[in-house]
Amino acid sequence: DAPSRFAGLPGDIAVSFEFFPPKGDKGDEQLQRTVERLAPYEPDFVSVTYGAGGSTRAGTITALERIVGSTSVPVAGHLTCVGASKVEVNEVAERYRAMGVTHIVALRGDASPPGTPYSPHAQGYRGAAELVEALARTGHFDISVAAYPEAHPESPSVEDDIANLRRKVDAGANRALTQFFFEPETFLRFRDRAVAAGIDVPIIPGVLPITNFKQTCKFAGICGATIPDWMANAFDGLDDEPAIRNLVAATLAAEFCGKLYEEGVRDFHFYTLNRADLSYAICHLLGLREKAREPVAA
Ligand code: FAD
Repeated sequence: DAPSRFAGLPGDIAVSFEFFPPKGDKGDEQLQRTVERLAPYEPDFVSVTYGAGGSTRAGTITALERIVGSTSVPVAGHLTCVGASKVEVNEVAERYRAMGVTHIVALRGDASPPGTPYSPHAQGYRGAAELVEALARTGHFDISVAAYPEAHPESPSVEDDIANLRRKVDAGANRALTQFFFEPETFLRFRDRAVAAGIDVPIIPGVLPITNFKQTCKFAGICGATIPDWMANAFDGLDDEPAIRNLVAATLAAEFCGKLYEEGVRDFHFYTLNRADLSYAICHLLGLREKAREPVAA
């Protein structure tokens, strides 16, 4: 018997956690605490992003090194093509491999500041599909790519965007991690269309627990994710009520993951924003327990 409406049996659910490279000592400590809190859930992997415009290469490498050195969880490094030659990008991939990071989230990246049209580096990879192909050719890497349930903002159409995902999978990607979204149906429709287009790798929903609603609206505006009216209503008036906001956020995220679970989703990728509590609570509701602790049967 499952211990809650949607919680899986032990071993049923797989999760991964995404972090960003922190700035300063306080940021380093916060990331370290977050990793220590979430690692006992034995995630499939944790990943560290690569800064906008390729700006945090050193920070990404340092954060990866720290996580590799302090936990035994599998670690993935994000890698983008923007603003760098193929040689430079390949060097970063090799650097990852040298530290034992053989899972790469391969991305095109964005020009900065946000909204500037993308143009590839003269000696660079033109997009994620080309990067995937080069990484796959080495035979050294497990490769994840990005997918967009509401289509990438630069994509002429949903069909075109799915065709691009198909190119990345054909080039050697092993799974797709999605942009965040707030209506489970958005993901389910997208998954159906991707499967119909012959995409046969796991498509893992990206879950953004909302720690800061205003910031979420800003991110959503940049990456083309829709904020439903009901969600804006749910957070209305809570700007100065962080504790209540967290309760609301946990309730909405649990309902969201519950619906996905009911539709057969068993893998979840959490955008933690380097904070553990909400991701931890949602994983708990999904039936996960820290290593050596099993959920109590109902
Ligand atoms: P691509 O798959 O190359 O596609 C980009 C756009 O170009 C799409 O609209 C696609 O349809 C179109 N396109 C590509 N090739 C063609 C073609 N041949 N013909 C027509 N259209 C084409 N950004 C960072 O800077 N650092 C990160 O660490 C990072 N991590 C991310 C993690 C996840 C899970 C996700 C979902 C996104 C992440 N991003 C990150 C954001 C990402 O870099 C941007 O969304 C970027 O604009 C697109 O990257 P991509 O890899 O999806 O690009």
